[in-house]
Amino acid sequence: MPMRILLVNPPNSGRSIPEERYGITSLKQIFRGEPLGLEVLAASLSKHEVRILDLKVVPQLLEETLELFAPDIVAFTAMTCEAQAVLQLASQVRACDERILITVGGVHASSDPEFFNREMIDWIIIGLGVQSFPLLAEALERGLLVEIDGVARSQAGKKLVYRPRSFSQDDLLTISPRYDLVHEYRPSYILETLGLQLGFVSTAAGCPFDCSFCCIGPLTGGRYFTAKIENVIRDIQRVPTPVIRLVDANTFGKPKHAEELARAIGHYGIKKQFIADVRSDTVVLHPQLMRQWREIGLRAVIIGFEEIDDSALGAMNKKNSAATNKHAIEILHDLGITIVGDFIISPDYREEQFERLDAFVQAQAIELPMYTVLTPLPGTALHREVRDQIILDDLDYYTLTNAVLPTYLDEQLFYQRYADLLAKGHRSAKV
Ligand code: SF4
Repeated sequence: MPMRILLVNPPNSGRSIPEERYGITSLKQIFRGEPLGLEVLAASLSKHEVRILDLKVVPQLLEETLELFAPDIVAFTAMTCEAQAVLQLASQVRACDERILITVGGVHASSDPEFFNREMIDWIIIGLGVQSFPLLAEALERGLLVEIDGVARSQAGKKLVYRPRSFSQDDLLTISPRYDLVHEYRPSYILETLGLQLGFVSTAAGCPFDCSFCCIGPLTGGRYFTAKIENVIRDIQRVPTPVIRLVDANTFGKPKHAEELARAIGHYGIKKQFIADVRSDTVVLHPQLMRQWREIGLRAVIIGFEEIDDSALGAMNKKNSAATNKHAIEILHDLGITIVGDFIISPDYREEQFERLDAFVQAQAIELPMYTVLTPLPGTALHREVRDQIILDDLDYYTLTNAVLPTYLDEQLFYQRYADLLAKGHRSAKV
């Protein structure tokens, strides 16, 4: 018999030190975009009856949904700052009906699977689950206990034992994500500050780079895969919004694939706008590719500049340079492509570093600067490097807007400088 599977996107649960300690409310992170990972997983479970519950949109509806849908499996996804909330929700599910099997996957489960090795969780999915989760559902349906690569059976109190998955192109979905399952939530998937409604499409998975702070690697075992062009075109046509956020960590990681995709978008006469992540060195090495994408609707790019000095970029293993960042900005401005620039503020920033960063952003006329605080996410190289210096282990604060390492400046002053930087950068923001 097919299983009834409820895929759950957890509510916004991150906490904010600047708000709680100093009344600075502008730094709190609110994530609200469609849960594409769950839509993809739902499509891979076509033999089963699947629903998506987005608690970011309807935070109170877990128990009511459990009652009405009566799932056999509840599957959570979680970023690091949501991991503790998911444990609480899993306990709630367990208390409602102890026959329900509970699984967790997503970024935190892939980076630090041991965290979920607890009694309220039954199975942990490590990395992309398009192949492994359906195999697990099938085994559970037949009451079998089989070993599946990339899936760990939790055994609280003992060390987690599992075989890592060797990811391949086959771990990408070939059929379309179940966009229909979030139909009722879609009006809420809006970038509120800019009043922009976005739909999500994926063109690639993973990233060939290995920046020390980044949590993307474990999702694909460090590999990078691109989706078939015809599948991306199909998804772009199916998403009902005029602006599409290509949610890959690195959309143009294989320039030939990106070129082919741009040609296909033009060929099919698709009139949509796109927002994509790109590295600055890709822009510099392939300006023609950026021009080609501009012509078929690339409206904005998100670039992780991270820092403005080579020494800081080197320490992050960014494998990029400040000069390349500046060159990329020139190329993008010449092409009229809006730049969303990501910068990482280290907790050891002095006043002059805040000032230099502000001056850089103003001088380079970056349309929408985004600032996060350097955060050692468990499972990353950065975490291994600085774990002895961490002063705050509570993952609710790992929203990338809190300092979980000691600040050099007085803490309140650090957050005030951070809030000022953000406010200034967003005064005339546009995408
Ligand atoms: S920060 Fe960007 S370039 Fe670096 S590993 Fe992560 S996704 Fe790749």
